[in-house]
Amino acid sequence: MNVILLGPPGAGKGTQGALLAERSGAVRIATGELLREAVRAGTPPGQKARKYVEAGELVPDDAILELVRERLADAPADGAIFDGFPRTVAQAEAFEALLAELGRSLDAVIVIDVAEDVLVRRLSGRRTCSACGAVYNADSGPPSVPGRCDVCGGTLVARADDDPATVRHRLGVHVEQTLPLIAHYQAAGTPVCHVDGERPVDEVQRDIVRSLRAAEDARRSEAHR
Ligand code: ADP
Ligand code: AMP
Repeated sequence: MNVILLGPPGAGKGTQGALLAERSGAVRIATGELLREAVRAGTPPGQKARKYVEAGELVPDDAILELVRERLADAPADGAIFDGFPRTVAQAEAFEALLAELGRSLDAVIVIDVAEDVLVRRLSGRRTCSACGAVYNADSGPPSVPGRCDVCGGTLVARADDDPATVRHRLGVHVEQTLPLIAHYQAAGTPVCHVDGERPVDEVQRDIVRSLRAAEDARRSEAHR
């Protein structure tokens, strides 16, 4: 299973991707998390990416492709969940070439739909563990002990790019640069499945699993024809 999770910031890609990875054994490749790790570690790619991430701008395509290429080298042949990548048509085209080079193929694109006012509210309440990256929400999914991660006890922090002004900017970037990917994948014949991301986390997960099964069944019956 090679699957792309597409959706605006705050749609639940990280939340759903982590659940799907746990359930399926697939590797989750989340470019935003990889970039934040690189920024924290102060590596040369992290130093270059920092100003873009902080401003809510997209990091240049070639740097992102390099990150994904490195990660994909270790991923099992049929098991990768791409969260937050690709984010531009140019990334999608380069990604197709990379998949072909590695003998992999894309099974489905899951689009998580959430209205803008809900996204802004969600992101203002998002808290992330500074040690293990687990994600919580002050309103919809708080930790058992305020400010502490349930998984590892680490300190929970708000992301710097989740302030309302940067969120508005990121939403605009999503509409302009990432939404065209839906038409791109539809034209390429890749199954594109929309799920309603405004329902509880477990219901969204159930819909994603159901959509992936339907895409797999359709692929099998096509192959038998
Ligand atoms: P993304 O990776 O798409 O930016 P996240 O998975 O980090 O989104 O989710 C954004 C915020 O919304 C987090 O605080 C998360 O706990 C919360 N969240 C995720 N899914 C849901 C949901 N179905 N209902 C309510 N809150 C959610
Ligand atoms: P995310 O964690 O997916 O919300 O991403 C956080 C930030 O990382 C984005 O606002 C961008 O600055 C950067 N980023 C993540 N993924 C990509 C990508 N595929 N292309 C360009 N920039 C990215």
